[in-house]
Amino acid sequence: MADGRCAEITILGSGPAAVATACGLRRIGHEVLLIGLPGNTACEGVSARTLALLRQWGLAAAADSIEGPGERQGSWAGRDLVDASEYVVDRAQFDRSLLTDAASREVTIVSDRVIGYARGGRLWRVRTRHACIDCRVVIDARGRRVRRALRKGPDLVAVCQRFRTRQTTKVLTRIEAFPQGWCWFAESGHGMGWLQAVCSCNEPSLRFGLERHLGSVLAAVPQTAAALSAATPAGTALARAATAALSVQPDEPGVFRTGDALVALDPLSGQGMYEALRSATVTVAAAHSYCSTGEWDSVVRFVRERSCDLWRRRSEMAALFYEQQAVHTPSAFWVRSAEAYAACQDVDQSAATGEPRIERRPVLNGSLIELRRVVVTAQSPRGVWRVDSVDLAELVDFLSATHTMDVEHIAQRFSCSPRAVAHAMQWLRTHGLLRPAAIMAPEMTMA
Ligand SMILES: Cc1cc2nc3c(=O)[nH]c(=O)nc-3n(C[C@H](O)[C@H](O)[C@H](O)COP(=O)(O)OP(=O)(O)OC[C@H]3O[C@@H](n4cnc5c(N)ncnc54)[C@H](O)[C@@H]3O)c2cc1C
Repeated sequence: MADGRCAEITILGSGPAAVATACGLRRIGHEVLLIGLPGNTACEGVSARTLALLRQWGLAAAADSIEGPGERQGSWAGRDLVDASEYVVDRAQFDRSLLTDAASREVTIVSDRVIGYARGGRLWRVRTRHACIDCRVVIDARGRRVRRALRKGPDLVAVCQRFRTRQTTKVLTRIEAFPQGWCWFAESGHGMGWLQAVCSCNEPSLRFGLERHLGSVLAAVPQTAAALSAATPAGTALARAATAALSVQPDEPGVFRTGDALVALDPLSGQGMYEALRSATVTVAAAHSYCSTGEWDSVVRFVRERSCDLWRRRSEMAALFYEQQAVHTPSAFWVRSAEAYAACQDVDQSAATGEPRIERRPVLNGSLIELRRVVVTAQSPRGVWRVDSVDLAELVDFLSATHTMDVEHIAQRFSCSPRAVAHAMQWLRTHGLLRPAAIMAPEMTMA
């Protein structure tokens, strides 16, 4: 033990991924120490499903700090947005509220800067500016740190400026593209505006300073400029690293990465916080499994495959967004960014090729990661374990042994409803594992 501090699980960072993970681990009885120094002073936009996820994690104070919903205006790929809405998050206030939520779950909070961590005998030793903490598990949730990226999107930077706007009660956001990038403007409804312009790190106008760069952006987005005509800048402009990146989940037993520290998305997706909160489910299960069983190989495999899968899906989507805009604005920024995303998707080494098959793979079972027999297909390279709670591999075994199609009979054997069996059989049929006559070839049942 160092400096008198010792913890079962130490979480580095204090953003949404860190706090959701901490609260999730507390819920299942773990002792958690969270070390973080909130530093985000930006505004961000989130959807209703992000808000719902915050509430599911029990992060009520954080959810209550969010403004909206407001109308989301603007255009994409030449089309005006219609009936769109968005919530506005003032991150300084939101991140403070996250800590209130963590404290109410009896998470021990240390306000300090993390310097690093290293193996210290059987434990991990975390070094902060003022202390050392020994622990069994370290969860790194320190956000976007693109030092050792496995894959990267185009090199992007976001230049941001806070404004004082007219006092209205209206929350609104607006997105607009221009040849060198895109900008997002948010009004909180109580006199605060936020402008964010994303462009390539190599954009020449960045050389003349952030304020002048924003001036040239506003000249290219007349509708956003008009919305800001009566507003005055508050404070100085700031730059945020905005490159999407997939980081390496280390193969060091007891060390996990989560949130942006593992997969950081392009801000254009507007889903960064949503995915950070979702990743907490996996991290809670991974840390819990490791603490309770000591098993590492299948746990780390699950975390890695899930992060590669997320990266592949999200970069496919980003390529599509950029391509859509490139058709409308065929400038170097849009065309090259779309190409960069198209070129960085080949990451999932576990991706299935060939025939559907049954393999043993790690799956998420409640709050545990366990090895199970799953059906692997090209569409589901990580494998599908259950459909409607019916174990697919067991169902394939049973069908090939009995050659039955009697749904009632199968439902009895699997102690579930005939409806669930019908769904599971339909899934097998759609994925080519069940022929209409239900004659299962023996090779379909290989372990
Ligand atoms: C320009 C830009 C715009 C974005 N816009 C949106 C948007 O509109 N909607 C959306 O959903 N997402 C958006 N995102 C993404 C969103 O910010 C992240 O996905 C989300 O915050 C990830 O949560 P996290 O907890 O993983 O990391 P973070 O929120 O980054 O939290 C990490 C925390 O760790 C702390 N920390 C870092 N290093 C240390 C250290 N050494 N010691 C102690 N503490 C430390 C940080 O201060 C921070 O509090 C945007 C990102 C960028 C870059």
